[in-house]
Amino acid sequence: MPAFPAAADAITAQSVIDLEKRYVLQNYGRYPLVLHRGDGPYMWDLDGKRYLDFIAGIGVNALGQNHPRIVAAIQEQAARLIHTSNLFYNEFQGPLAERIAQVSGLDRVFFCNSGTEATEGSLKMIKAHGRDVSPDKYEIVSLENSFHGRTLGALAITGQPKYRKDFEPLMPGARFVPAEDIAALEAAVNERTAGIFIEWIQGEGGVVPLSDEYCRRARELADKHNALLCFDEIQCGVGRTGTYFAYQLSQPVVMPDIMTAAKPVACGIPLGVLACNERAAKAIRPGMHGSTFGGNALATRVALEFFDILEELLPSITRVGEYFRSELRAMGQQFDFVKEVRGYGLMIGVELTKPGNDIVTRAREGGLLLNCTHETVLRFLPPYIITEQHVDEAVGILRKAMA
Ligand SMILES: *Cc1c(COP(=O)(O)O)cnc(C)c1O
Repeated sequence: MPAFPAAADAITAQSVIDLEKRYVLQNYGRYPLVLHRGDGPYMWDLDGKRYLDFIAGIGVNALGQNHPRIVAAIQEQAARLIHTSNLFYNEFQGPLAERIAQVSGLDRVFFCNSGTEATEGSLKMIKAHGRDVSPDKYEIVSLENSFHGRTLGALAITGQPKYRKDFEPLMPGARFVPAEDIAALEAAVNERTAGIFIEWIQGEGGVVPLSDEYCRRARELADKHNALLCFDEIQCGVGRTGTYFAYQLSQPVVMPDIMTAAKPVACGIPLGVLACNERAAKAIRPGMHGSTFGGNALATRVALEFFDILEELLPSITRVGEYFRSELRAMGQQFDFVKEVRGYGLMIGVELTKPGNDIVTRAREGGLLLNCTHETVLRFLPPYIITEQHVDEAVGILRKAMA
């Protein structure tokens, strides 16, 4: 007899937490909350308490929970074909890659299952590109405070010592420069540079956007030294900023050679994306890279459905995001510890002059989910479907949490 239906009544938040603590690797600091179901931007815990979810699975649940078109696509595809491996074709990789090429301005796409895998694919592409030129061309320049993932290659170019220190020595050739320091970038990039890695808006680093000028200089330096420029759009990309990709906010648009995306791209079904131009693509030849799960029929079908829905949502992401920032700024006037409200679209950070975790806890108790990154930055990555009314509700809860 399966235990689950009979035992379900006995499940409590405490029993779930106890079992997790006994058997699951203790690598996360979790909030003491067991989420049970969701609808749109709302989630309910096991006890039936409702939360407005403004962190959305760290920017993954782009359409919130239980979106009818996403549910239908999953159900229909799951009943037909989930996975084939990349020994065969499926019907959806080609159309999805075409769609991503059209909206990104890039040429080719590789599919994997997570952000860090997209970073790894980019690193292999960059290293292979460098080796095609010279064995000494293997340096990768990335930014202090950046975050590119938890696997070893991604860690090697993540500019935050706290993530790296326990695993050193890491991949050689990584060089870190402070963001927005053009002189430091110029000094770091040279003939040995194979690639430059940038988050157009640093996410884990505290929702910190880069200037157009800085990105443009990175583009020029990459061209001058035959390096590949990679934009990590895993958190800031795929609609989050009200454009398809954050780099499209730059005027004129600074194009990368490689771009990575993941979090929202299949609304919670794991999918990572690396998109690149032909110049970068030619570094990877048959057999040099791959993934068993990557781009399976279920994930790519759901992502295609998502892109159809996203097209209609982009204007409201921009509009509601602007409203949210202006409401946060107005609220911030009341509290002297609110230093700055920043971001684009629905990627918003509120920098405080003190640690933000107490506010996160009180907001949660008040029915609003968010998180705090970089110690002092309240981070909002709400689903793209929210309206001004949801913003009002969130700001109301937040104001009480701050008082
Ligand atoms: C989340 C994130 C990653 C890593 O993605 P995973 O899916 O957790 O591996 C990489 N880069 C950025 C900017 C991210 O926000």
